[in-house]
Amino acid sequence: MRFFKEIWTFIQLFFTGMDKSKTELEPWGVKYILSGKYKYMCWCGRVLFHLEKPEEGILVGEDKNHETLHLIQAHDSGSWIKYYWGYLIEWLKGGGPFSKKSYYVGKYEVEAYAKEGDDTYISRRPAGNVDKFILKDKTQEWKNGRKSSYLFKLYIKEKFKDI
Ligand SMILES: [Zn+2]
Repeated sequence: MRFFKEIWTFIQLFFTGMDKSKTELEPWGVKYILSGKYKYMCWCGRVLFHLEKPEEGILVGEDKNHETLHLIQAHDSGSWIKYYWGYLIEWLKGGGPFSKKSYYVGKYEVEAYAKEGDDTYISRRPAGNVDKFILKDKTQEWKNGRKSSYLFKLYIKEKFKDI
C-alpha cells in the first residue's frame, strides 16, 4: 500500500499550484520511489530522501544548496509542469536514456553542481540565471570532464567559478 501512496502523492504534487513564497524545501522520506543511485530528488517543493536514512532528512551544506537551487529554478519557470518539462528537454538534448552524460550536462544540473559549494550564490542569484550554464557542445564538455561524473563536476565548478 505504501508504494501506491507514494506514487499517488508524487503525481498529486505535480498538479499542485506553486507557492513562490515557500523558499524552503519540505523533506519527504520515501521507501520506494527514489532510486538508490540518488541521495535526494527535488520534486515540486519537496525533497525526497531515503526513509531508511532519517539523518539525511535534514539537509545541510552543498546538498541543501544544490536542491534549493532546483527549487529556485522551478520558481523561475513559473509552474512545476513548465520546469519539469524543461528539465526533460535538457535531459533529452544530453542524450536521454542512451547516454551516461544526459543527467549531468543539462543546464539545471550544471548550475546546481557549479554553485552548490558557494554559500553566497543563492542570495545574489538573478532570476533566470540558469541560462548562463547552458553547455553548447555537450559532448565536448563531457569529454573535457573526462567522462566521469566526479571529474565533470569539478570541471564545471572551475568553468563557472566567476558567475
Ligand atoms: Zn540536481
